[in-house]
Amino acid sequence: MSALGLSGKELAASIRTETAARAAELTAAGRRPKLAVVIATADESSAWYVRSIARAAEKAGIACDLVDLGADASAEAIRARLAALSDDPAVHGIILQTPLPEGAALEDLASAIAFEKDVDGANPLSLGRLAAGLPAYAPATAEAVVAILDHHKVELTGRHVAVVGRSTVVGKPAAHLLLDRNATVTVCHSRTADLAAVTSACDVVVAAVGRAGLITAAHVRPGAVVVDVGTNPAEDGGLVGDVDAASVAPVAGALTPVPGGVGPVTTALLLRHTVGAAAL
Ligand code: NAP
Repeated sequence: MSALGLSGKELAASIRTETAARAAELTAAGRRPKLAVVIATADESSAWYVRSIARAAEKAGIACDLVDLGADASAEAIRARLAALSDDPAVHGIILQTPLPEGAALEDLASAIAFEKDVDGANPLSLGRLAAGLPAYAPATAEAVVAILDHHKVELTGRHVAVVGRSTVVGKPAAHLLLDRNATVTVCHSRTADLAAVTSACDVVVAAVGRAGLITAAHVRPGAVVVDVGTNPAEDGGLVGDVDAASVAPVAGALTPVPGGVGPVTTALLLRHTVGAAAL
């Protein structure tokens, strides 16, 4: 028997439909939502992600400005542009794409994104507020993890969840959101001793590592739910997750696919956040 596929496509489509309707209302009222994506990289997977955001924004009636500062942009130039966009009343959401040039750190630069326009929860203020249980935009990928579990009616209260990865973009905010849902959360990372022993004791495993196929059948207990956040370049030019789906699917109770799982929900939530910011 193979695991149930927890697709994100249906959920993403319903978020996009609702978001497009709100965007149309705002546009009719003279306030067309606008997202600015600041890019300072020539990374191909980043370019792929930016193109998919721009396409989705256009379809939803949201303006999307790609602000390409070049892969050799200085931290000062990036900070200055983020500050200018924060001051621009026509811009409602701002994202800073990674990777960043050497010497530029996301955690440092993202504090130049106005909190109310921080639609991908990159400003440390957003993460701090999230941890304190105060309103803030969560990083869209972390929010997508919980949204996809909710959509497929996976119970979280009292369940033991392993989050593999502790980045400020995915692992840490996902852990906070799961705690808010009364899950018992264990956060794992590269120094975790015997990862398989930890994850195979859990009801839900969230893989947010960036290592293709790291999570195998040995990491998953029979019937567990597995969320694959990983987007790693595949040899055929496509994407593969952090989960070795061929070995995990026969063991897990349910598994999100890559592509078509967390990814589309992430993009849809980013647009929902942008429309929400435009409505303020
Ligand atoms: P990241 O910043 O590189 O963090 C990776 C995390 O994985 C780190 O905490 C690292 O531990 C941990 N790790 C590395 N090797 C490990 C190992 N062997 N065992 C256990 N933990 C290990 O990556 P990220 O930005 O969080 O992204 C994670 C993945 O999600 C990537 O594949 C990325 O492409 C994907 N992603 C997808 C979306 C989407 O929309 N679907 C959005 C964002 C990211 P240390 O802290 O100890 O180094």
